[in-house]
Formats: sequence, structure tokens, C-alpha cells
Amino acid sequence: MKIKLYPKELLEAAWKQDKKLYAHGDAAAPPKCLRCGAPLAAHLMVNALSRYADVQICEACGMDEALRDAAHTPLPLVEWDAVKSGHLKKKAEKSICYLVQNCTFSEVFKHTYKPPMQLIERPVSELAYSRSDYDGYRWWTTWHNESGKKTPPELVKEIDEFQNALFKLPAFKTLETMKRFCRYAETTSDPTEFNLYSETAHLYIRIRLITRFRDYNAYIYYYDKAAAGEEQ
Ligand SMILES: [Zn+2]
Repeated sequence: MKIKLYPKELLEAAWKQDKKLYAHGDAAAPPKCLRCGAPLAAHLMVNALSRYADVQICEACGMDEALRDAAHTPLPLVEWDAVKSGHLKKKAEKSICYLVQNCTFSEVFKHTYKPPMQLIERPVSELAYSRSDYDGYRWWTTWHNESGKKTPPELVKEIDEFQNALFKLPAFKTLETMKRFCRYAETTSDPTEFNLYSETAHLYIRIRLITRFRDYNAYIYYYDKAAAGEEQ
């Protein structure tokens, strides 16, 4: 299983192709700026390097990124022209899971129940969740199953595969790298908490990231797609 950040890695793959038009640093017909859609400068070096993806963008976009950065209001990558115009298609490969910034399975949170002796409602489809903290050297993880129901072995396998692939990402090397990675995640009312979402063949996945040192730093919640719409 491969986990990719959407749409950052698609933009970088597109730029790899576009860059080929610049033989010896100049392009007779420059490609479009992936961020705004305007043509890039014919001379490669005149374009700007994006702060959010390893791609070159037009000078005006470079300026806009700098201004937005200063104001802490970056343009989300999904708002880039290449993404909005539909030029970048997610590869429908089974082995690739994309991490996305917006939840695509809100129904999961509509069907909830209260486990015995607990105050907080939980989604009916929740199979398990992991809770991890980074102690400055490594990650420590514990697993939780609030419903007490046994998870079918094929789903356990899917959970394991996703979890392993996720924590192998460079983003999870340290708390510092995770913090930087959160630039691509959904923000919340708490400036130290972020969300990302993903899915596998049978699971919806919510990734909650907390950048505070000496706290729990990552919760990964796994939901059974087949039970996502069910009432308790
Ligand atoms: Zn541009």
C-alpha cells in the first residue's frame, strides 16, 4: 500500500513533465502555471519556486504566496488551477491511498452511539483507533476498540497495512516534520490540531494530528465503510 498526499504529489508529477519543455532553461512554448493557469515565463529561472510543492510557478503566484504566507492565509493546493480545472486526475490504483484535506464521509459522524460508562458519542462504524505520541526519539502507539466487537481479520489486515505505510512517510519522522506536514492538513479552531482523511477498499480513515510536544500527537480512526450509514 502506498500513501500519497493529495494533490501535492500529483502537482509535482505534472511539473516533472512540464519542466521537460524547458530545454537548456528556455521554453519556446512555456507550460501553464499550475497555480493560476497563466503561461509561465519562457526563461525557467524567472519563475518562482512554490513554498508548498516542489514545482515552479509564475512570478505573480510567487509574490502572492509570499503575501499570503505573511498573512497566514495560504491558498490550499486544491484551489490551484491545475486541480480545479480537472487536469490532475487521481490515479484510480487500488494500491494508492490519498490523504485529503476535506472529509468525504461525513455520514460516519451522523450515526453515533455511547459506549457503556462513557460520555462521548462514537461513530457506530468505528472499528478501532490508534493513539500515538512522539517522545523526541520515537513513536509510541496504543490501540483502542471502544465497541468491544471483534474486527474481521481482512479488515485488521487493511488497518495494519495503512498504519504501517502512514508511519513510514517522511512526515512522521519526527514531531517537527509532522508539524511541517500539517500545512497540508485541514485546520481546526485549535491552531495545534489538524485533520487529514483517507480511505482504503473497506475503510474510511480520519487522521487527527496534534503538534503539541508531550501530548498525544496522532490519533488514527478506522471506520467500516459497510457500516458507515447504519443506525445503532
Ligand atoms: Zn501563476
